[in-house]
Amino acid sequence: MTDRMPPVFRFAPSPNGLLHLGHAYSALLNFQMAQKSSGTFLLRIEDIDTERCRPELEAQMLHDLEWLGIEWDAEPRRQSDHFDDYADALAKLEAKGIIYPAFMSRSEIRRAIEPWGISWQTDPDGVPLYPGEERDLPLEQTARMVTERERHTKRLHMGKACAAPLLPLSWQENGAGPDGETGVITARPEAWGDVVIARSDTPTSYHLAVVVDDALQGVTTVVRGQDLFHSTSVHRLLQTLLELPEPAYHHHRLITDENGNKLSKSRGDISLKAMREAGKSPDDIKRMIGFHE
Ligand code: GLU
Repeated sequence: MTDRMPPVFRFAPSPNGLLHLGHAYSALLNFQMAQKSSGTFLLRIEDIDTERCRPELEAQMLHDLEWLGIEWDAEPRRQSDHFDDYADALAKLEAKGIIYPAFMSRSEIRRAIEPWGISWQTDPDGVPLYPGEERDLPLEQTARMVTERERHTKRLHMGKACAAPLLPLSWQENGAGPDGETGVITARPEAWGDVVIARSDTPTSYHLAVVVDDALQGVTTVVRGQDLFHSTSVHRLLQTLLELPEPAYHHHRLITDENGNKLSKSRGDISLKAMREAGKSPDDIKRMIGFHE
């Protein structure tokens, strides 16, 4: 039955900088796919980083999308308004005994792995796996450490989380990964090690918020850049642990700069705002990113 219901798409930018051509491509593709399938197009504001995300950037973001001719079908969902939803999901994972508090700061992690050089394993994004040993400490001891040394993140004990009955996990890829992977993809969450599930300042991380929101918003097809292809392994694991529905995925090509590098929000000159101010039209933007109706 469910696969006959109109699909639900979403574009989920973070207002921590100005939108650029890469965001325009992702937003236009989601919007176009929703229109072609008589589906719904939703907007989600991923602002769990309350320090870097700012209201004026959010307003600018909405303005840029409107300028491109994109319309969304419901009030945008702002993640910072929904920390309770993520706290509930976190509590469910904690009740399974697969979450532990991790106390090492970034610089402590760097120092701990230094002697290992390049032999220290990294995740698919190139971030070193967590070297702390809290995962193996008895719960009473980590509980005591939490009261003594307040500041900590919460990490998923990947070994326990991937326990046999859940595996193998897979997803339907309707686009393609960075190496052309398509069709039914086997998830490899273990490649990510003990991912952060809640940051020190919020009851969530990107991975947790994204799966909770995709489920709450009824998203059926996640259309996003290839840079998030490998994260889907973590998302499938969390969806399974939290008994959330499984969307289909469509990872799309990334827009690159003249040197073939991924666009970055820190490069102001390629922002949609700068281009509009330089006299470019929405059609010019579409042409520049090879977006054909
Ligand atoms: N907020 C993420 C970003 O701006 C996108 C998350 C997603 O599409 O899953 O890169």
